Amino acid sequence: MIIDVARQLALKNYRGAFRFEHDCPQEFVILPSARIAGKVTVEGEFEIYDDDSVGVAFRVSYLIAGQCSYCLEPAQKQVEYEAEVLYLTEDDGENYSYDGSRLDLTTAVNDAILFSQPQVLLCREGCSGIDIK
Ligand SMILES: [Zn+2]
Repeated sequence: MIIDVARQLALKNYRGAFRFEHDCPQEFVILPSARIAGKVTVEGEFEIYDDDSVGVAFRVSYLIAGQCSYCLEPAQKQVEYEAEVLYLTEDDGENYSYDGSRLDLTTAVNDAILFSQPQVLLCREGCSGIDIK
């Protein structure tokens, strides 16, 4: 997803909203033997500031599916996660950066998917796993 900042500035649109579907590369799925079922929905808003930095607030939602971390039965979990990021025209090592013209949200969205991923996937609340006593 690209925000064409140069065009928005030419139109004097300093704020806007977006919604798109994102294909998450499998390498961003950290839970073993899990995958993201279908697409990741990304919805959000951006605001372009006077110095051409761009604030972006967005929400990712996706369904992660795989095996229960405790008993290995099929399991899935709907994840919703909100992120607020800042894009600068120069890389400061802390925020995201862009060239002042076209802003690509892919990295921020993939990072949000990484940050939001559950550590464990459970088939049901309170699954106690395989009884190995
Ligand atoms: Zn289980």
